[in-house]
Amino acid sequence: MKQEKYGLAALERQIQRELKYLNYPTENWVKPVVGSKGEAVLDVAVIGGGMCGMAVAFGLTREGISNFRIFDGGNEGCEGPWVTTARMRTLRSPKHLPGPHMGLPSLTFQSWYRTQVDDKAWEELEHIPRETWMEYLRWYRHVLKIPIENYSTLKKIIPDGDLLRLQLSHPEGEFDVLARRLVLATGRAAFGGVRVPDIFKDVPKELYAHTEEMI
Ligand SMILES: Cc1cc2nc3c(=O)[nH]c(=O)nc-3n(C[C@H](O)[C@H](O)[C@H](O)COP(=O)(O)OP(=O)(O)OC[C@H]3O[C@@H](n4cnc5c(N)ncnc54)[C@H](O)[C@@H]3O)c2cc1C
Repeated sequence: MKQEKYGLAALERQIQRELKYLNYPTENWVKPVVGSKGEAVLDVAVIGGGMCGMAVAFGLTREGISNFRIFDGGNEGCEGPWVTTARMRTLRSPKHLPGPHMGLPSLTFQSWYRTQVDDKAWEELEHIPRETWMEYLRWYRHVLKIPIENYSTLKKIIPDGDLLRLQLSHPEGEFDVLARRLVLATGRAAFGGVRVPDIFKDVPKELYAHTEEMI
């Protein structure tokens, strides 16, 4: 893909200007609360740093809720299925799909693509290759400075009075966070995990794979 650093840098400056006019990041207005033992409590914990989790982060920041954290179990820059388990080569949605723009035309996929590649390539593009969509999502994370904490997988949700205690695993060890609200933006994992029909139970594992597995 052609790199037009100056074009993209100019677009990023424009986005920063637009965000400033929107008073972004809005000052936090939520009163802090603490746990029963005086522990810090998040106003919102977001699980999943794919496009929905990032849109939630952007929305919270615009609304003046800054005491949140986003956790994603996947590798940095590989959130969602696009460059891991996806098999289709392109998105199904038409290319005009604006992406998680939240009302800012400069943040749309089209805006990024026209700047990053060019107008002619945009006109000729039929469907968005999934790797290109991932590249756009990485840029979205970068331009909005979305603080995703990767390699952190939610294992358990435990009610704790009016709060929720979340147990997460990380390569360096397990940890807990307390949160007032929880957003599960976990994509297909939200459907309860991988299930293989019983008909496969006697079939050798090397002959089949679930769509959630790497091939
Ligand atoms: C090839 C392909 C083409 C597609 N085309 C389209 C399309 O055109 N239009 C469309 O709308 N959709 C399309 N989809 C569907 C697409 O998966 C979703 O639209 C999109 O990924 C949803 O975003 P999301 O943020 O909800 O979830 P995801 O992008 O799936 O992100 C969820 C994130 O949650 C993380 N996660 C899950 N469980 C945990 C946990 N326990 N702890 C921590 N992190 C966790 C995952 O690591 C992941 O990064 C397509 C999918 C594929 C594979």
